[in-house]
Amino acid sequence: MNVVVDLNRCQGYAQCAFLAPQVFTMHGEESLLYTPVIAEDQDERVRRAAAACPVQAIVVGKEAGSGAR
Ligand code: SF4
Repeated sequence: MNVVVDLNRCQGYAQCAFLAPQVFTMHGEESLLYTPVIAEDQDERVRRAAAACPVQAIVVGKEAGSGAR
């Protein structure tokens, strides 16, 4: 599965890093690092992280792979 984070929208709340630490990690106070292609066993965690993001910056699945942003 693909994941894209709109880093312009991301406010560094770190909800995603808390819910899916293998995919999202905070680098310093506000910058987020993430893995754009995730293993299947991380799908559920990433979906939860996307749902938990306060600013809906995380896009997962097909939409993330389209390169629309
Ligand atoms: S939960 Fe959303 S706003 Fe917070 S660090 Fe992750 S992507 Fe950014």
